[in-house]
Amino acid sequence: MRTAIYPGSFDPITNGHLDVIERAAKLFDHVLVAVAHNSQKPVGLFTPDERVTFIEQATAHLDNVSATAFDGLLVRLAEQKNAAALVRGLRAVSDFEYEFQMALMNRQLNPDVETVFLTPREEYSYLSSRLVKEVARLDGDITKFVPAPVAAALTHRLT
Ligand code: ADP
Repeated sequence: MRTAIYPGSFDPITNGHLDVIERAAKLFDHVLVAVAHNSQKPVGLFTPDERVTFIEQATAHLDNVSATAFDGLLVRLAEQKNAAALVRGLRAVSDFEYEFQMALMNRQLNPDVETVFLTPREEYSYLSSRLVKEVARLDGDITKFVPAPVAAALTHRLT
């Protein structure tokens, strides 16, 4: 059983994240989407539990995907879950430097956990949770960018 962990903030999940999850679900037996949060830092727009619920709703059609919140070192979670890989999305060259650093640091921490990079469909390559929140705050139409329950929640919370 090959498990992959897809970590991130997911505040909230976008269609770009979902595209990466769908690709990972084809490659691995199980994909655990891990909502990273830091109890020492302010909560984002949505609580970790709300973010997990949005991910569960958006991935209900994928029976090998689950979601959890976690606080701590990613490689520890990978060890606990016996995960073979960490999945990260690469949208553009601008993502590369940070992702490359993280992958090499995680390899130092646990050489057995590989990082796998997946690229979304081009039309999602400009999408980020931050930008979607900005558009929602300014009352723009975000329905193309996020799953329907997320769009409703964003509109409710930000406008
Ligand atoms: P983080 O705060 O760790 O960057 P995010 O939730 O923003 O968390 O992103 C999690 C992962 O998903 C990162 O690897 C990021 O590059 C990737 N990602 C974010 N948005 C997209 C997108 N539109 N297409 C593909 N990958 C994405």
